[in-house]
Amino acid sequence: SVHVQTMSKQYEVRIDTGLRHQVGALLKELLQPVSSVLIVTDSNVAPFYLKDVIQSFDESAVVYDYVIESGEASKSFSVYEQLLTKALEVGLDRKSAVIALGGGVVGDLAGFVAATYMRGIRFVQMPTTLLAHDSSVGGKVAINHRLGKNMVGSFHQPEAVLYDTDCLMSLPEEEWKSGFAEVIKHGFIRDEAFLKQLEKEWTSFKTISVERLNDMLARSISVKADVVSEDEQEHGIRAHLNFGHTLGHAIEAQLGYGKITHGEAVAIGMLFALRLSEEMLNVNFHIEQYENWFLQLGYRTKIPASLNRERLLQTMSKDKKVEAGTIRMVLLKRLGEATIVNIPPEKIRVLLDE
Ligand code: NAD
Ligand code: ZN
Repeated sequence: SVHVQTMSKQYEVRIDTGLRHQVGALLKELLQPVSSVLIVTDSNVAPFYLKDVIQSFDESAVVYDYVIESGEASKSFSVYEQLLTKALEVGLDRKSAVIALGGGVVGDLAGFVAATYMRGIRFVQMPTTLLAHDSSVGGKVAINHRLGKNMVGSFHQPEAVLYDTDCLMSLPEEEWKSGFAEVIKHGFIRDEAFLKQLEKEWTSFKTISVERLNDMLARSISVKADVVSEDEQEHGIRAHLNFGHTLGHAIEAQLGYGKITHGEAVAIGMLFALRLSEEMLNVNFHIEQYENWFLQLGYRTKIPASLNRERLLQTMSKDKKVEAGTIRMVLLKRLGEATIVNIPPEKIRVLLDE
């Protein structure tokens, strides 16, 4: 398991098969005393795993559940309110806990409910997507506003992250691809040896052993945990986690959310950031080798031709704080070491047009 140490809390990320059958027993230890729990999950995950989690509690436990529609649209004010209503109706109190059983959508939403219900109650993350190895660690929780994604939220660290990797077996290939981009990202920004290992071992998502999967997750989560431990509230190096995201977000926004997965957009963004790093920082990464690897894994490597380059540039300059007309982006000084650079828009425009 991986440990996360922040100012506000220390917690464990447990990665193993079969954990969904042990949740009740584990939480009895961990959350003592706990008056009741509310399991939040979504309509895709519930049929597979909700029953197992409920049955892992003994008769003395008070367990409620709430199933939201799957999809980003559920990170809304209305579903947030529905969850608060449920919590009030069943009488969750300050000794209760929320369990988020699902991907990043469930984690962000249920986490925000836990962060705000009665000024904050405890919560536990049970990620069921590969992407959620990233989103379940670090304490960022949020819902969306009509005018912007993740615009309403807070920092609320979980009591624990219980990652039952059996759950990944039902995950569609597209979602594997989306989540794996964040794994690659963690290698690029902080762990060159891990990156090399990934390149060697991961050329498809079809034939993975449990050992390799669990090992990969532990290493990827360690990077996230280290970064968060050093900079919980993103005053400094936590921003390195945005590697590939400045262009990635712009692509997602212009194509329309749901038209491309987050990870696939980030993959294109990472290749772009590598090119820009070569341009700005006098390094050579042999980018073709990454392009080939990404293609092998099924990613797109080029910015979709339909997208308007000038609009991408505009979104990129709005994405993060702009300093004197420059665009702030995460680049690599070398493999495994990220840095933040203020880049003149012209430099970016040239590469976007290539
Ligand atoms: P998601 O939660 O929508 O899951 C993707 C799809 O897979 C959904 O249709 C879901 O129902 C389905 N699914 C989930 N688990 C499954 C399983 N085991 N088997 C079969 N289907 C399953 O999306 P996601 O990619 O996990 O997360 C994306 C969200 O995470 C976004 O809202 C994003 O803003 C957020 N996010 C948050 C952070 C953070 O630090 N808090 C970081 C990155 C992303
Ligand atoms: Zn991301």
